[in-house]
Amino acid sequence: MKLLEDRIRHDGEVLPGDVLKINSFLNHQVDPELMMAIGQEFARLFKDCGITKVLTCEASGIAPGVMAAYALHVPMVFARKKKPSTLNDAVYWADVYSYTKKTTNQICVEQKFLHEDEQLLIIDDFLANGEAVKGMINIAKQANAHVAGIGIVVAKVFQGGTDWIKEHGFRLEALAKIDSLANNQVHFLGEE
Ligand code: 5GP
Repeated sequence: MKLLEDRIRHDGEVLPGDVLKINSFLNHQVDPELMMAIGQEFARLFKDCGITKVLTCEASGIAPGVMAAYALHVPMVFARKKKPSTLNDAVYWADVYSYTKKTTNQICVEQKFLHEDEQLLIIDDFLANGEAVKGMINIAKQANAHVAGIGIVVAKVFQGGTDWIKEHGFRLEALAKIDSLANNQVHFLGEE
């Protein structure tokens, strides 16, 4: 998605440890027009998959997730990282190792928001080693819901998550594919 790649080139900052910082439009401040364009692109890519719900993870999956859900005319549910007191006990849990924080957290979704007959579109901001996506797939499995597709805003394809998703037979669409962050430079897949 050229609009997104141009924005990453313009505003992205490469941090040590192969981390890309895009806090000016996605991970802290949010550009709603760009998020809407991202949501519409996901909706276009997955329009024939019969999606009934978008599943994402707080906090940074919410902006692209809700825009994709809006464009697909379906609800969005986000996995929570801490169980709030307002959540009852009927929740699905999964462990997720955080690439950026280097800690393991649990994510949870209230059972009443995921059903056996759902066709889920999993959305997330970044794909690195795939831990967040694996956690959401785990939760979908517990609910006997079907993962119809996985939509990622920025995939760092040189890390393990992209291959893992493909090897496990899931449909993956990433709007920006980065194949290197070496020398503090963002290099997109297929670029000279
Ligand atoms: P994974 O679980 O695939 O290893 O990592 C994905 C999660 O870690 C994303 O939900 C995102 O929050 C965070 N993450 C991984 N790599 C990056 C990165 O380069 N930049 C930012 N901002 N977040 C990242």
